[in-house]
Amino acid sequence: MSAHMNTSAAISPDQVRRFIFENQPVRGHWVHLESAWRELRAHATYPPPVIELLGQAVVASVLLAATLKFRGTLTFQLQGNGVVSLLVAQCSHDFRVRAVARCDETALAALTGGTAQRGAALFRRLVGDSGLVMVTIEAEEKSLRYQGVVPLSGASLAESLEAYFASSEQLPTRVLLTADEEHGAGMLVQKLPGAEEEGTFDSGAIEEAWLGAQRGIARLGKSRGLRGHRIEELLARGFPDQDLRLFRGTPVRFECRCSEGRVAGLLRALGAEEVRDVLREQGAVTVTCEFCHHPYRFDSVDVEALFADVSDAGDSTSIH
Ligand SMILES: [Zn+2]
Repeated sequence: MSAHMNTSAAISPDQVRRFIFENQPVRGHWVHLESAWRELRAHATYPPPVIELLGQAVVASVLLAATLKFRGTLTFQLQGNGVVSLLVAQCSHDFRVRAVARCDETALAALTGGTAQRGAALFRRLVGDSGLVMVTIEAEEKSLRYQGVVPLSGASLAESLEAYFASSEQLPTRVLLTADEEHGAGMLVQKLPGAEEEGTFDSGAIEEAWLGAQRGIARLGKSRGLRGHRIEELLARGFPDQDLRLFRGTPVRFECRCSEGRVAGLLRALGAEEVRDVLREQGAVTVTCEFCHHPYRFDSVDVEALFADVSDAGDSTSIH
């Protein structure tokens, strides 16, 4: 193999790394998750097929965050009409991930009670037949917002992501996504635009490199899979004839961004009347974070402080 690799000294099992085809406008990204994934999914109980899909979505969000330039939060969202009605995977620009899935209980019971399905049939059972893939980027500053939406297509989440890149980013892309209870892993290769027009590269050579990249992804998809393997080994196996350059990895970790302040903001937005109603009925207001299940409890004193603050600040919209 003719690749020259810059191996970093401490290899974290949870990381994302970029590689390029030397002197060709083809790039790739690889992500591997272990403890970040286990920590993330420990906060909820899902049946194995949903765990698999959720893990793939988390991997997809990391790959998207690695390929798109932004500072803030990227949300990879899947809306379906199958077992999974909503799936949200978020990745920040510095690769902090969190995710949650909402399941239709009746469809879920039918799925776990029925005969085992795999591949495209299982994917369709999970997401239904008229779903959407949405990618939203909320920039940290200037409240910038970008959203791309494509119909959920193909026989897998990887194919849906390929369709997203083709239609929203105009980037020919090949994607592999895989997850189980212990690991999540993924790889993508992309043909970058503009190189032919600029005359920097010979178009025949570009086409050859891109074909080689796609063959490599197909090869890796068929073989023993991405989970639990080092990137150097995967690149050697997938792209034996390519001159590749592998860049240093960036750690990926699970981190929920919920806080008492955010929940307080949520309650203020609901309004004093509604929050006091809940307080009267239940003695306290408890809001549980959907992502990490952390409970935020507000008793009567907390609730009054919440709305006293608002009136002190001169905000009259939620106080009567
Ligand atoms: Zn949380």
